Amino acid sequence: MMAAIDLDESGAGRRAGEEPVLRLARVERRYQEGDRYLEVLRGADLEIRAGEIVALIAPSGAGKSTLLHLAGLLERPDGGEILLRGVATGELSDADRTRLRRMEIGFVYQFHHLLPEFTALENVMLPQMIRGLKRKEAAARAAQLLSYMRLDERMEHRPSEMSGGEQQRVAIARAVANVPSLLLADEPTGNLDPKTAHYVFDALQALVRASGLAAVIATHNMDIADRMDRRITLEEGKIVEMA
Ligand code: ADP
Repeated sequence: MMAAIDLDESGAGRRAGEEPVLRLARVERRYQEGDRYLEVLRGADLEIRAGEIVALIAPSGAGKSTLLHLAGLLERPDGGEILLRGVATGELSDADRTRLRRMEIGFVYQFHHLLPEFTALENVMLPQMIRGLKRKEAAARAAQLLSYMRLDERMEHRPSEMSGGEQQRVAIARAVANVPSLLLADEPTGNLDPKTAHYVFDALQALVRASGLAAVIATHNMDIADRMDRRITLEEGKIVEMA
């Protein structure tokens, strides 16, 4: 256990048992298909607290991406409310939503989207520099995160010089570089072999525990899902807890 890592700049408000990091209240989302509506979410309710890792498991087309996009403030719901650390996001302007997203949310995708011409260190530095941190501070934090992901030997490597599992761990470090409170991941281990998938999940889990992040991870990997704190699925547009 690495105790020295400072993943929580504020030092407050990240302990379990407090108000949920993410709350969905009767969220609705529909898409127009010709003259009909496809009702993807029909009153979805969800609460996720700091330090919790929740698996989102549902068949293709059930609405997982829609849910992640809504929770990530990339889309707006057609009804209901989405609260981030108690802040109702529905009435916020696009600019305020973007600011909140940049500060509070980290994303990890199945395909990592690392910038190929930059090293691992630079890939993790960039979001921090966009947010206004000085190069030196960004580099120090990036190095700390990559070390936490056990990538000490890979900091100066470009994505093409790393394995799939290593690239994905860089992507996780990048996602949390700006100290978000919520991590949203869409099949983060989907293109990895089973052993590497578990290794990447180990790293992610350690990070969530150390930082008090809340994480929602869409996955088809039931072995990985079984290692998370809770499992949820989508049934007829509602969120249902699984056994
Ligand atoms: P999943 O991620 O579980 O595969 P999605 O959230 O991508 O599911 O999609 C849920 C349903 O909504 C699917 O039937 C999909 O075709 C439809 N859908 C998603 N996005 C759009 C969109 N922008 N316009 C119309 N239909 C959409």
